[in-house]
Amino acid sequence: MKLKLFSLFPICCLLSILIIGCSRQPLYKDSRIMMGTYVSVISPDQRAAKIVFDEIKRIESLLSKYIPASEISILNNTGKVKASAETIFVVKKAQGFSRSSEGAFDITVGPLVDLWGFTNRDYRIPQAQEIQDRLKVIGSNKIIVNEEENMIQLPFQGMKVDVGGIAKGFAVDRAVKKLKEQGITSCLIALAGDIYCLGKKFGSPWRVAIRNPRAQGTIGSVALEDKAISTSGDYEQYFIRDKRRYSHIIDPRTGYPAQSSIVSVTVLAQDCLTADALATTIFVLGKEKGTEFAKKFSGVKVIIKNSPR
Ligand code: AMP
Ligand code: MG
Repeated sequence: MKLKLFSLFPICCLLSILIIGCSRQPLYKDSRIMMGTYVSVISPDQRAAKIVFDEIKRIESLLSKYIPASEISILNNTGKVKASAETIFVVKKAQGFSRSSEGAFDITVGPLVDLWGFTNRDYRIPQAQEIQDRLKVIGSNKIIVNEEENMIQLPFQGMKVDVGGIAKGFAVDRAVKKLKEQGITSCLIALAGDIYCLGKKFGSPWRVAIRNPRAQGTIGSVALEDKAISTSGDYEQYFIRDKRRYSHIIDPRTGYPAQSSIVSVTVLAQDCLTADALATTIFVLGKEKGTEFAKKFSGVKVIIKNSPR
Protein backbone atom coordinates (compact mmCIF):
# COMPACT_ATOMS: atom_id res chain seq x y z
CA MET A 1 0.00 0.00 0.00
CA LYS A 2 1.16 3.52 -0.63
CA LEU A 3 0.22 4.80 2.80
CA LYS A 4 3.87 5.13 3.70
CA LEU A 5 4.45 7.28 0.65
CA PHE A 6 1.67 9.65 1.41
CA SER A 7 1.96 9.93 5.14
CA LEU A 8 2.25 13.71 5.23
CA PHE A 9 -0.39 14.43 2.66
CA PRO A 10 -3.54 13.32 4.46
CA ILE A 11 -2.80 15.37 7.52
CA CYS A 12 -2.47 18.46 5.37
CA CYS A 13 -5.66 17.66 3.53
CA LEU A 14 -7.71 16.87 6.57
CA LEU A 15 -6.68 20.21 7.93
CA SER A 16 -7.78 21.79 4.72
CA ILE A 17 -11.33 20.69 5.25
CA LEU A 18 -13.18 22.85 7.65
CA ILE A 19 -16.79 22.06 8.15
CA ILE A 20 -18.42 25.24 9.25
CA GLY A 21 -21.66 25.39 11.18
CA CYS A 22 -23.27 23.37 13.91
CA SER A 23 -26.59 21.74 14.62
CA ARG A 24 -28.34 19.79 17.32
CA GLN A 25 -29.12 16.98 14.89
CA PRO A 26 -26.50 14.22 14.87
CA LEU A 27 -23.87 14.22 12.17
CA TYR A 28 -21.97 10.95 11.79
CA LYS A 29 -18.28 11.18 10.99
CA ASP A 30 -15.96 8.32 10.17
CA SER A 31 -12.50 7.98 8.60
CA ARG A 32 -10.47 5.18 7.05
CA ILE A 33 -7.15 4.87 5.33
CA MET A 34 -7.76 3.96 1.69
CA MET A 35 -6.01 4.64 -1.62
CA GLY A 36 -2.96 5.55 0.41
CA THR A 37 -4.64 8.39 2.24
CA TYR A 38 -7.45 9.30 4.60
CA VAL A 39 -11.06 9.10 3.56
CA SER A 40 -13.53 11.02 5.71
CA VAL A 41 -17.28 10.73 5.48
CA ILE A 42 -19.70 13.10 7.21
CA SER A 43 -23.44 12.57 6.97
CA PRO A 44 -26.62 12.79 9.01
CA ASP A 45 -27.30 9.26 7.70
CA GLN A 46 -25.48 6.62 9.71
CA ARG A 47 -25.33 4.23 6.73
CA ALA A 48 -23.27 6.58 4.56
CA ALA A 49 -19.74 5.79 5.77
CA LYS A 50 -19.90 2.05 5.14
CA ILE A 51 -21.39 2.54 1.68
CA VAL A 52 -18.62 4.98 0.77
CA PHE A 53 -15.78 2.87 2.20
CA ASP A 54 -16.99 -0.30 0.47
CA GLU A 55 -17.19 1.41 -2.90
CA ILE A 56 -13.84 3.18 -2.63
CA LYS A 57 -12.23 -0.13 -1.66
CA ARG A 58 -13.74 -1.77 -4.74
CA ILE A 59 -12.46 0.97 -7.05
CA GLU A 60 -9.03 0.88 -5.40
CA SER A 61 -8.81 -2.87 -6.04
CA LEU A 62 -9.25 -2.15 -9.76
CA LEU A 63 -7.08 0.92 -10.19
CA SER A 64 -4.26 0.95 -7.63
CA LYS A 65 -0.78 0.41 -9.00
CA TYR A 66 0.23 -0.68 -5.51
CA ILE A 67 -2.13 -3.68 -5.51
CA PRO A 68 -0.48 -6.44 -7.59
CA ALA A 69 -3.79 -8.01 -8.67
CA SER A 70 -5.43 -4.75 -9.73
CA GLU A 71 -6.33 -4.31 -13.37
CA ILE A 72 -3.88 -1.43 -13.67
CA SER A 73 -1.05 -3.56 -12.23
CA ILE A 74 -1.85 -6.41 -14.61
CA LEU A 75 -1.89 -3.96 -17.50
CA ASN A 76 1.46 -2.50 -16.48
CA ASN A 77 3.07 -5.86 -15.85
CA THR A 78 1.82 -7.77 -18.88
CA GLY A 79 1.01 -5.02 -21.38
CA LYS A 80 -2.65 -5.97 -21.58
CA VAL A 81 -5.69 -6.64 -19.43
CA LYS A 82 -9.29 -7.72 -19.77
CA ALA A 83 -10.74 -4.79 -17.89
CA SER A 84 -13.88 -3.83 -16.03
CA ALA A 85 -16.20 -1.14 -17.35
CA GLU A 86 -14.86 1.15 -14.59
CA THR A 87 -11.21 0.83 -15.63
CA ILE A 88 -12.08 1.32 -19.29
CA PHE A 89 -14.14 4.40 -18.37
CA VAL A 90 -11.24 5.95 -16.42
CA VAL A 91 -8.69 5.22 -19.14
CA LYS A 92 -10.94 6.67 -21.85
CA LYS A 93 -11.68 9.76 -19.75
CA ALA A 94 -7.95 10.18 -19.15
CA GLN A 95 -7.26 9.93 -22.87
CA GLY A 96 -9.81 12.69 -23.39
CA PHE A 97 -8.13 15.00 -20.87
CA SER A 98 -4.80 14.23 -22.48
CA ARG A 99 -6.12 15.24 -25.89
CA SER A 100 -7.80 18.42 -24.66
CA SER A 101 -4.73 19.49 -22.67
CA GLU A 102 -2.34 18.61 -25.52
CA GLY A 103 -0.48 16.19 -23.30
CA ALA A 104 -0.23 18.14 -20.04
CA PHE A 105 -2.39 15.48 -18.41
CA ASP A 106 -1.25 12.01 -19.32
CA ILE A 107 -1.64 8.74 -17.42
CA THR A 108 1.22 7.16 -19.39
CA VAL A 109 3.46 9.32 -17.21
CA GLY A 110 3.99 6.15 -15.09
CA PRO A 111 7.61 5.42 -16.15
CA LEU A 112 8.59 9.01 -15.31
CA VAL A 113 6.86 8.88 -11.92
CA ASP A 114 8.93 5.75 -11.21
CA LEU A 115 12.13 7.25 -12.60
CA TRP A 116 11.98 10.30 -10.32
CA GLY A 117 11.40 8.00 -7.35
CA PHE A 118 7.85 9.09 -6.54
CA THR A 119 6.48 5.54 -6.66
CA ASN A 120 8.81 4.21 -3.96
CA ARG A 121 9.66 7.52 -2.33
CA ASP A 122 13.25 6.92 -3.31
CA TYR A 123 13.75 10.34 -4.88
CA ARG A 124 16.49 11.05 -7.37
CA ILE A 125 17.31 13.41 -10.21
CA PRO A 126 17.67 11.22 -13.29
CA GLN A 127 20.20 11.66 -16.08
CA ALA A 128 18.90 13.57 -19.10
CA GLN A 129 19.32 10.42 -21.24
CA GLU A 130 17.13 8.36 -18.88
CA ILE A 131 14.39 10.97 -19.20
CA GLN A 132 14.70 11.00 -22.99
CA ASP A 133 14.41 7.20 -23.06
CA ARG A 134 11.21 7.28 -20.96
CA LEU A 135 9.70 10.05 -23.07
CA LYS A 136 9.64 7.66 -26.04
CA VAL A 137 6.86 5.61 -24.40
CA ILE A 138 4.78 8.54 -23.13
CA GLY A 139 1.47 9.33 -24.84
CA SER A 140 -2.08 8.33 -23.96
CA ASN A 141 -2.90 8.05 -27.65
CA LYS A 142 -0.66 4.98 -27.71
CA ILE A 143 -2.98 3.11 -25.31
CA ILE A 144 -5.23 0.71 -27.23
CA VAL A 145 -8.75 0.39 -25.81
CA ASN A 146 -10.95 -2.27 -27.39
CA GLU A 147 -14.38 -1.75 -25.88
CA GLU A 148 -15.97 -4.67 -27.72
CA GLU A 149 -13.57 -7.10 -26.09
CA ASN A 150 -13.04 -5.06 -22.91
CA MET A 151 -9.31 -5.11 -23.56
CA ILE A 152 -6.73 -2.45 -22.81
CA GLN A 153 -3.25 -2.77 -24.28
CA LEU A 154 0.05 -0.96 -23.90
CA PRO A 155 1.75 -1.70 -27.22
CA PHE A 156 5.29 -0.59 -26.34
CA GLN A 157 7.80 -2.17 -24.01
CA GLY A 158 8.25 0.00 -20.92
CA MET A 159 4.85 1.72 -21.11
CA LYS A 160 3.02 2.09 -17.78
CA VAL A 161 -0.11 3.88 -16.74
CA ASP A 162 -0.52 5.73 -13.47
CA VAL A 163 -4.06 6.90 -12.77
CA GLY A 164 -3.09 8.71 -9.54
CA GLY A 165 -4.19 12.04 -11.01
CA ILE A 166 -7.77 10.97 -11.69
CA ALA A 167 -8.61 7.80 -9.72
CA LYS A 168 -9.50 9.38 -6.40
CA GLY A 169 -12.00 11.70 -8.04
CA PHE A 170 -13.52 8.76 -9.87
CA ALA A 171 -13.75 6.72 -6.65
CA VAL A 172 -15.56 9.61 -4.96
CA ASP A 173 -18.02 9.86 -7.86
CA ARG A 174 -18.76 6.16 -7.68
CA ALA A 175 -19.31 6.38 -3.92
CA VAL A 176 -21.76 9.26 -4.47
CA LYS A 177 -23.61 7.11 -6.99
CA LYS A 178 -23.94 4.32 -4.40
CA LEU A 179 -25.21 6.79 -1.78
CA LYS A 180 -27.87 8.07 -4.17
CA GLU A 181 -28.93 4.51 -4.98
CA GLN A 182 -29.52 3.98 -1.26
CA GLY A 183 -31.58 7.18 -0.99
CA ILE A 184 -28.95 9.12 0.96
CA THR A 185 -29.23 12.80 0.12
CA SER A 186 -26.75 14.52 2.43
CA CYS A 187 -23.07 13.60 2.75
CA LEU A 188 -19.58 15.02 2.46
CA ILE A 189 -16.85 12.68 1.20
CA ALA A 190 -13.24 13.78 1.45
CA LEU A 191 -10.68 11.48 -0.13
CA ALA A 192 -7.65 13.56 0.72
CA GLY A 193 -7.89 16.60 -1.58
CA ASP A 194 -10.79 15.21 -3.60
CA ILE A 195 -14.11 16.14 -2.05
CA TYR A 196 -17.77 15.86 -2.98
CA CYS A 197 -20.61 17.60 -1.17
CA LEU A 198 -23.88 15.74 -1.69
CA GLY A 199 -27.00 17.77 -1.04
CA LYS A 200 -27.13 20.12 1.89
CA LYS A 201 -26.02 19.94 5.47
CA PHE A 202 -29.18 20.52 7.53
CA GLY A 203 -30.69 22.86 4.97
CA SER A 204 -27.57 24.87 4.11
CA PRO A 205 -24.82 24.13 1.63
CA TRP A 206 -21.72 22.42 2.96
CA ARG A 207 -18.85 24.78 3.55
CA VAL A 208 -15.30 23.74 2.71
CA ALA A 209 -12.26 25.83 3.52
CA ILE A 210 -9.17 25.79 1.30
CA ARG A 211 -5.96 25.50 3.24
CA ASN A 212 -3.08 27.88 2.64
CA PRO A 213 -0.39 25.46 1.42
CA ARG A 214 2.56 27.58 2.57
CA ALA A 215 1.27 29.00 5.86
CA GLN A 216 -1.15 28.54 8.69
CA GLY A 217 -4.82 29.17 7.97
CA THR A 218 -6.89 29.17 4.85
CA ILE A 219 -7.09 31.09 1.61
CA GLY A 220 -10.88 31.16 1.62
CA SER A 221 -13.90 28.94 1.80
CA VAL A 222 -16.62 27.85 -0.58
CA ALA A 223 -20.25 26.81 -0.10
CA LEU A 224 -21.01 23.62 -2.02
CA GLU A 225 -24.11 21.63 -2.82
CA ASP A 226 -23.98 18.69 -5.24
CA LYS A 227 -20.52 19.78 -6.31
CA ALA A 228 -16.98 18.49 -6.28
CA ILE A 229 -13.82 20.27 -5.24
CA SER A 230 -10.31 19.02 -5.82
CA THR A 231 -6.92 20.45 -4.97
CA SER A 232 -3.51 19.63 -6.45
CA GLY A 233 -0.30 21.16 -5.26
CA ASP A 234 3.45 20.96 -4.98
CA TYR A 235 3.20 20.47 -1.22
CA GLU A 236 1.63 17.00 -1.43
CA GLN A 237 4.66 14.92 -2.37
CA TYR A 238 7.96 16.52 -3.23
CA PHE A 239 11.65 16.56 -2.53
CA ILE A 240 14.10 19.42 -2.41
CA ARG A 241 17.60 19.36 -3.97
CA ASP A 242 19.83 22.44 -4.12
CA LYS A 243 16.98 24.60 -2.84
CA ARG A 244 14.80 23.50 -5.74
CA ARG A 245 11.47 21.77 -5.17
CA TYR A 246 10.58 18.76 -7.31
CA SER A 247 6.91 17.81 -7.06
CA HIS A 248 5.14 14.54 -7.89
CA ILE A 249 3.24 16.11 -10.77
CA ILE A 250 5.33 15.52 -13.87
CA ASP A 251 5.15 17.49 -17.08
CA PRO A 252 4.82 14.63 -19.59
CA ARG A 253 6.02 16.89 -22.38
CA THR A 254 9.44 17.47 -20.81
CA GLY A 255 9.79 14.52 -18.45
CA TYR A 256 10.59 16.82 -15.53
CA PRO A 257 8.42 17.66 -12.51
CA ALA A 258 6.11 20.52 -13.49
CA GLN A 259 7.79 23.84 -12.77
CA SER A 260 4.77 26.07 -12.93
CA SER A 261 4.19 29.17 -10.89
CA ILE A 262 1.44 27.41 -8.99
CA VAL A 263 1.65 26.23 -5.38
CA SER A 264 -1.87 24.86 -5.30
CA VAL A 265 -4.84 24.78 -7.61
CA THR A 266 -8.38 24.10 -6.52
CA VAL A 267 -11.03 23.16 -9.05
CA LEU A 268 -14.78 23.15 -8.50
CA ALA A 269 -16.81 20.99 -10.87
CA GLN A 270 -20.00 19.01 -11.18
CA ASP A 271 -18.19 15.72 -10.71
CA CYS A 272 -15.07 14.78 -8.81
CA LEU A 273 -13.26 12.98 -11.66
CA THR A 274 -13.31 16.20 -13.68
CA ALA A 275 -12.22 18.30 -10.70
CA ASP A 276 -9.37 15.86 -9.96
CA ALA A 277 -8.08 15.62 -13.53
CA LEU A 278 -8.34 19.36 -14.14
CA ALA A 279 -6.52 20.25 -10.93
CA THR A 280 -3.56 18.07 -11.94
CA THR A 281 -3.65 19.43 -15.51
CA ILE A 282 -3.81 23.08 -14.49
CA PHE A 283 -0.88 22.55 -12.15
CA VAL A 284 1.17 21.40 -15.15
CA LEU A 285 -0.05 24.16 -17.46
CA GLY A 286 0.54 27.03 -15.01
CA LYS A 287 -1.77 29.88 -14.18
CA GLU A 288 -2.31 31.54 -17.55
CA LYS A 289 -2.63 28.50 -19.79
CA GLY A 290 -4.39 26.57 -17.05
CA THR A 291 -7.05 29.22 -16.57
CA GLU A 292 -7.59 29.37 -20.31
CA PHE A 293 -7.79 25.56 -20.52
CA ALA A 294 -10.42 25.41 -17.75
CA LYS A 295 -12.74 27.57 -19.86
CA LYS A 296 -13.27 24.55 -22.13
CA PHE A 297 -15.28 22.94 -19.33
CA SER A 298 -18.65 24.35 -18.39
CA GLY A 299 -19.51 24.88 -14.74
CA VAL A 300 -15.87 24.75 -13.66
CA LYS A 301 -14.31 27.28 -11.29
CA VAL A 302 -10.60 27.53 -10.56
CA ILE A 303 -8.81 29.01 -7.55
CA ILE A 304 -5.04 29.28 -7.89
CA LYS A 305 -2.49 30.04 -5.22
CA ASN A 306 0.67 31.28 -6.89
CA SER A 307 4.19 30.65 -5.75
CA PRO A 308 6.15 33.57 -4.24
CA ARG A 309 9.24 32.14 -6.06
P1 AMP B 1 -3.08 14.80 -8.08
O1 AMP B 1 -2.66 14.67 -6.65
O2 AMP B 1 -4.51 14.47 -8.34
O3 AMP B 1 -2.67 16.09 -8.70
O4 AMP B 1 -2.32 13.64 -8.88
C1 AMP B 1 -0.94 13.52 -8.84
C2 AMP B 1 -0.59 12.11 -9.26
O5 AMP B 1 -0.97 11.93 -10.63
C3 AMP B 1 0.87 11.79 -9.18
O6 AMP B 1 1.22 11.27 -7.92
C4 AMP B 1 1.02 10.75 -10.29
O7 AMP B 1 0.57 9.50 -9.82
C5 AMP B 1 0.04 11.24 -11.34
N1 AMP B 1 0.60 12.22 -12.29
C6 AMP B 1 1.75 12.93 -12.19
N2 AMP B 1 1.89 13.77 -13.23
C7 AMP B 1 0.78 13.58 -14.01
C8 AMP B 1 0.35 14.15 -15.25
N3 AMP B 1 1.04 15.12 -15.87
N4 AMP B 1 -0.82 13.71 -15.76
C9 AMP B 1 -1.54 12.75 -15.16
N5 AMP B 1 -1.20 12.19 -13.99
C10 AMP B 1 -0.03 12.59 -13.42
MG1 MG C 1 -5.79 15.11 -9.79
